[in-house]
Amino acid sequence: MPKANFSRHGMPSQDAAERIKNFGEVALGYSEEMAVEEANRCLQCKNKPCVDGCPVNVRIPEFIKAMREGDFPEAARIMKSTNMLPAICGRVCPQETQCEEKCVYFKRGASVAIGRLERWIADWELDRGVELPQLSELSGKKVAVVGSGPSSLTAAGELARMGHQVTIFEALHRPGGVLTYGIPPFRLPRTVSGAEIANLQKLGVDIVYNFVVGKTATVDEMLADGYDAVFLGTGAGLPQFVGVPGENLAGVYSANEFLTRVNLMKAYAFPEYDTPVKVGDRVAVVGAGNVAMDSARCALRLGAKEVSIVYRRSRTEMPARAEEAEHAEEEGVRFLLLTAPTKMIGNDKGAVCAMECQQMQLGEPDASGRRRPLPMPGSEFTLEADTVVVAIGTSPNPLVPRSTPGLEVSRHGTVVVDPATGATTKKGVWAGGDLVTGAATVISAMGAGRRAAASIDKYLKGEE
Ligand code: FAD
Ligand code: SF4
Ligand code: SF4
Repeated sequence: MPKANFSRHGMPSQDAAERIKNFGEVALGYSEEMAVEEANRCLQCKNKPCVDGCPVNVRIPEFIKAMREGDFPEAARIMKSTNMLPAICGRVCPQETQCEEKCVYFKRGASVAIGRLERWIADWELDRGVELPQLSELSGKKVAVVGSGPSSLTAAGELARMGHQVTIFEALHRPGGVLTYGIPPFRLPRTVSGAEIANLQKLGVDIVYNFVVGKTATVDEMLADGYDAVFLGTGAGLPQFVGVPGENLAGVYSANEFLTRVNLMKAYAFPEYDTPVKVGDRVAVVGAGNVAMDSARCALRLGAKEVSIVYRRSRTEMPARAEEAEHAEEEGVRFLLLTAPTKMIGNDKGAVCAMECQQMQLGEPDASGRRRPLPMPGSEFTLEADTVVVAIGTSPNPLVPRSTPGLEVSRHGTVVVDPATGATTKKGVWAGGDLVTGAATVISAMGAGRRAAASIDKYLKGEE
């Protein structure tokens, strides 16, 4: 039994002054020596509390044990037995509220760096060639998976592993969902996500692009066309707006559009990619979640001189991960807290040039449990801004639910499922990820994909 060691290894990172000039990865990853030292801190707790904190139940103590014994191939094998996208999860999981929150070191602020170890071992294997899992005998059953975000990729990978023939139908021209069009490459390099997706394809998963389910074909048509089951993982990509005058001025973007232009269309690599995005000198980002932080940090890297986060509550209520907000601050993003926009102001060319804002104070908690922001009369002021990015949340796109009779949908537009299985109210159709929960996390979407795959497998075998 190792002795407790409370000194967690920090993550080597690009210097803030340097990194705002490029889209290269900010967190550089552990060296082998650091990784093994960090693995040695794990106490190998018998009741494995950390495993319960992970939505896909990564066998954490077991992979860490193999790592510290120097058996890296075995560590990778153990990790991939429940997680098909470990290099992605090791980078983007909010570990501090999942596996690491359950680590026995958590209360001392020194949880074992599970995510960083996961990233290290996954990268180690990606560099050397990934060992693919054993596939079950072919079942002769066909499954259509709608969307190619983390819920769909996980469901598809698991179903392929179980011997079913899987085809993903994706509306865009690239796979990955938010992993590709939302999360910027300085947090998740596309070489990493691309390699993990390519490994799933090696299991026999076929991907059809530019196929909008609900338009190109409906779910009912797919079922009639020979698919034995359908999994819906279309995410929550419909942007919400503030609802103030002037929001349709040129230069006002939803975060979805802004990040898609930057990350999917590679505006950051203009002129190599001929799809620039116009970013002014002064950028205001409305909202304070991870999406807002990503937008602000992209704007800085695209040359904005002054980038402000405008948020109507205080720092305590900010939904962004603490690490993301700290990184944004280190890079020079300004935080205008207890501030809400009341109007977007345009110039004579119909483009935004400023935002009227109002100061807020916090009242009693609202339905979300957070203290309600209340306007302070007479506190209006003008913030100069030639680009505004609205990042205040998204909801599921209604196209698939509306074109699929028999699918029950909540009043928030999310698809209703049995939480244990992901089965919808329509026979032969399962759903998971943000489409079911509203905007959440990569790993919760993957957990849903895994549960649905297990249930679909039983259904296809006539056991459910
Ligand atoms: P998505 O990833 O949204 O994928 C849905 C896919 O379905 C898309 O590819 C879409 O094109 C496709 N699709 C939609 N409609 C159709 C249709 N009709 N036909 C065919 N295809 C369709 N989570 C974290 O855990 N950590 C983070 O750091 C993090 N950062 C984020 C940053 C940003 C900018 C955003 C937007 C989200 C972030 N999230 C993060 C949240 C996380 O990415 C999502 O919760 C997760 O991607 C949801 O996965 P999903 O499979 O449900 O759907
Ligand atoms: Fe190791 Fe922490 Fe899990 Fe215990 S709770 S097994 S110390 S990672
Ligand atoms: Fe933790 Fe995410 Fe890895 Fe699960 S997948 S162990 S939550 S980092």
